[in-house]
Amino acid sequence: MGLKLFNTLSRSVQEFVPLDPAGKTVGLYCCGPTVYDFAHIGNWRTFIFGDLVRRYLEFKGYAVTHVMNITDVDDKIIKRVRETGTPLREFTGQFEAAFFNDLQALNCRRPHQTPRATEHMTEIVALIEKLLARGLAYPTPDGSVYFSIEKYRGGGSRYGQLVKLNFDEMRVGERVRSDEYEKEAVADFALWKARVPEDGEVFWPSPWGDGRPGWHIECSAMSMKLLGPSFDLHLGGEDLMFPHHEDEIAQSEGAGLQPAGRPFVKYWLHGAHLLVGGRKMSKSLGNYFTLRDLLAKGFTGREIRYLLLTAHYRETFNFTLEGLQGARASLTRIDECLAKLREVAGNIEATADSPLLKEFSAALDDDLNISGAWGAVFEWVRNTNRKLAENAMDSAAAAAALATWEKLDCVTGVGAPKEVEVPAEIAALVEARQAARKSRDFKRADAIRDELKAKGWVIEDTPKGARAKRL
Ligand SMILES: [Zn+2]
Repeated sequence: MGLKLFNTLSRSVQEFVPLDPAGKTVGLYCCGPTVYDFAHIGNWRTFIFGDLVRRYLEFKGYAVTHVMNITDVDDKIIKRVRETGTPLREFTGQFEAAFFNDLQALNCRRPHQTPRATEHMTEIVALIEKLLARGLAYPTPDGSVYFSIEKYRGGGSRYGQLVKLNFDEMRVGERVRSDEYEKEAVADFALWKARVPEDGEVFWPSPWGDGRPGWHIECSAMSMKLLGPSFDLHLGGEDLMFPHHEDEIAQSEGAGLQPAGRPFVKYWLHGAHLLVGGRKMSKSLGNYFTLRDLLAKGFTGREIRYLLLTAHYRETFNFTLEGLQGARASLTRIDECLAKLREVAGNIEATADSPLLKEFSAALDDDLNISGAWGAVFEWVRNTNRKLAENAMDSAAAAAALATWEKLDCVTGVGAPKEVEVPAEIAALVEARQAARKSRDFKRADAIRDELKAKGWVIEDTPKGARAKRL
C-alpha cells in the first residue's frame, strides 16, 4: 500500500508520489531552530515529527535528502544580541550546539544538511535581485527591499495557498517590516531590511546598502539551493503556516525558477500545537519546559521522544509529567519483553518475519497514524509475552521476533538500550556522592542519595565502583 499524507496545499489526504520520475529520491525540508534560546518541548514535538517522516520514508526505501536550516539571524536574535552584548556568532553558536546535543538525546537522525542563514547571503541577495528583476519586489528609500503582493497577484499568482486570506480588507502598498505578523495584517513583507542603529554590528553589504535578510527569504534561498527549485516535502509547525510558509511560496514561485507546471513544494505538512497541562506553554505559568528541564527531572530522551510520538501529528497534544511516567511504564513493558526474547533467542540470527510489520506500516501509510502503529506494537508485546509464558517460542521464533522489533524501531527510534541509559545529570550526582564519601562527608553523601532516589534512581555499589540503577 502506498503512503498517504495530509497536504496543507490541498487540505486533503493525498497519495505520496515523489517528483523523481524513478520514484526513488525524496527532498525533505524542515524549518529548523531559531538559535536565540534553548528549543522548548513544543519545538521538539515538531522536530521529532520531521524525524518520523524521514525515518518512515527511509523505511519505505526512499533515498531521502533531509535539510534543516539554522536561523542564525532574525529579529529575535538581534534583540538578544543587543541585550546580552555578545557577538552574533558567539551568541547563536551556544544555542546551535545545544540544539544538536538535544537532537541527539532525542535520537533524531541528524539532517544531511543544516545550512546557516548567515552563510548564504550570496544566495539570498541573488534571489532578491531575481524578484526585483521580475518586478515583484521594490526598494524603499531607506535601503530596504519589499515583496509586492499586489504585483505578485497581478501576474496571476495566488497568495494564500496555505491559508485563506481576505484581500478586501487589505490596504494596497502597506508594508510590514517585522518577521512575524497576523493574517489580518497581511501586507508587503521585507526581503531585505536596511541597517538601523539597533542592529549594532549585525549587517551585511548588499546592492541596496548594509542590512540583513528577512526571515522568510532565508528559507527560500537555502531550500532551493540544496534541494532544487521544486522539491517534495516541506514541514513545520502549524504556527509557521502564515506568514512564514506562505511567504516562502510567494518568493520561491515568484522567482520563477521551477520547471513549467511544477510547484515550489509538492506536499506541505504541518504539525499541530502542544499544550502543557492543558494550557499554552508560558514561562509565567511555570509550564514551559526545555529538554534540559525534563532531563533534570530524571526523565530520559527516550521517554520524552516516545511520549511526543504517541499522538497523531495533526492533533493538539497535551504534554504532562504524568504522561512521561506513563511513557516510562510503556517502554518498560517493551524492554521486558525484548529482554526475555533475547534470553530465548541466544545467539541465533533471523530475518524479520511477522504480520506486525504489515500492520505497523499499514497504520503509518494512513497519514502517519502513529497511534494505530503503537496499537499493533503493544498487541504484539501482549501476544509475545503470552507465548513466552507458555514456553511456546523456540530460539528461532524469538530471534525472528527480535529482528522484527529492530526493523520497526528504525522508524520509532525509541530503541531498547542493551544497557540502561544514565542521564548526564544522574551520573554527575553519583560522582558527587562518591567524592563526598571519600572526603567522609556522609551527611552530604546521604543527601545526594536521597536526591537520586527522588529522581527515580538508586546507587548500586559494584566491584567496578558505584553505578546508578533505576528504582
Ligand atoms: Zn523556514
